[in-house]
Amino acid sequence: MPFEPDATHDPNLKSWVESANDAGTDFPIQNLPYGVFCLNGEDPWDDARPGVAIGDKILDLQVCAEAGLFDGLDTEDEPILYEFGTIGLNGLMLASPERRRRVRARISELLSESCPELKDNADVRDEAIVPMDAAQMLMPAEIADYTDFYASVHHATNVGSMFRPTNPLLPNYKYVPIGYHGRASSIVVSGAEVRRPSGQTRPSDDEPPVFGPCKLLDYELEVGFFIGPGNEIGEPIGIDKAGEHLFGMCLVNDWSARDMQKWEYQPLGPFLAKSFTTTISPWVVTGDALAPFRCASYERPSGDPAPLAHLYDNDDQQAGGVDLTLEVLLSSAKMREAGMEPVSLSKGNFKNMYWTIAQMIAHHSSNGCNLQAGDLMASGTISGPERSSRGCLLELTWDGPGEPGADPVPGTQRTPIRLPTGEERKFLADGDEVIIRGWCERDGFRRIGFGECRGIVTPAV
Ligand code: MN
Repeated sequence: MPFEPDATHDPNLKSWVESANDAGTDFPIQNLPYGVFCLNGEDPWDDARPGVAIGDKILDLQVCAEAGLFDGLDTEDEPILYEFGTIGLNGLMLASPERRRRVRARISELLSESCPELKDNADVRDEAIVPMDAAQMLMPAEIADYTDFYASVHHATNVGSMFRPTNPLLPNYKYVPIGYHGRASSIVVSGAEVRRPSGQTRPSDDEPPVFGPCKLLDYELEVGFFIGPGNEIGEPIGIDKAGEHLFGMCLVNDWSARDMQKWEYQPLGPFLAKSFTTTISPWVVTGDALAPFRCASYERPSGDPAPLAHLYDNDDQQAGGVDLTLEVLLSSAKMREAGMEPVSLSKGNFKNMYWTIAQMIAHHSSNGCNLQAGDLMASGTISGPERSSRGCLLELTWDGPGEPGADPVPGTQRTPIRLPTGEERKFLADGDEVIIRGWCERDGFRRIGFGECRGIVTPAV
């Protein structure tokens, strides 16, 4: 299905919320990402409600719904207050793609410069428009299940090279979108502290393992995608229908304890090295907002196998990718004390992934596993072909073949990153803040952004 822009994508559309028209904003009227918030001082359990980011403000959807501004969308089966009345966005995620599109169109209309309905209704407007700095962002959904994939062939090849220099990619990689079931309960929203985990590690092959604070703490640059309507158990989602089950995307930091991971990952994959904390950005950018930025899926080099039939769809090959630029920044405690700006560690792009979102959704349900509205899937570390596009410190400080410290013991030679304070990092130190940003740009369309995914590492217990 070739992309057909609608009125919500019009690059000339402006909002009466002035800050949404600033060139640098992540949240112009063409974006309209959903999140869940409460006002500072309110109770996050009792007062959480859904909103939409617009410039440096939040549109309170519950206030709008209660004021009757969505009445045209109400039906007996689908009252709009169901979608906007629940604590998370799960109600909205359950809605059909057509209904979600109608809701988006209505929000776009209400916020557009030419529409007086909310703009000129001072009582409702003053309650419905909240400054972002007066609000606390909360988890966007109740996430029942979380799956993390491994969809970057560059990441898989780099990491494989450290452990198996002659045979970095396992034979299944180009056939199966590899993933593992992660932990949903420890997913936190941007800004929450990230406590350094303790666990078992084996520092030397000649000694027994020890238990203590992780010494090789890492981040992983990833994006997440929320599932919209799910599927019945036993009824796989076809690759041609998989796009309809995507609700939207966010930024993800899959914090990883590399020393614990190395000792525990065989034979069943990651466990406690990953499950201590995963951070997500609070705003969910919808599939509709991302539509103008879809691109061809990753071009497999000649010699690579074609995807098997249940993972192959012509439309998905043409437009299953997302041209989404991502950046990771770091600031140490010392840098913040000295008033220094965070430094950029790497830049990558989601379009370099070996598998598309539709392929991951189709694969996940291909055995009959039921996906549910609000499930979160993450892409796996997003690394590109260059050193500057490696999405975690495990790769970024590693000296691969032909690089500065390339060495006889694979994976052990590392060139540290030097910070402006003179500090050096091979892995994260306590007090380090990792910041992920993401944005989409294309000629003829308004740039849209994802906001930020932040977390500061605090000392182990
Ligand atoms: Mn990961």
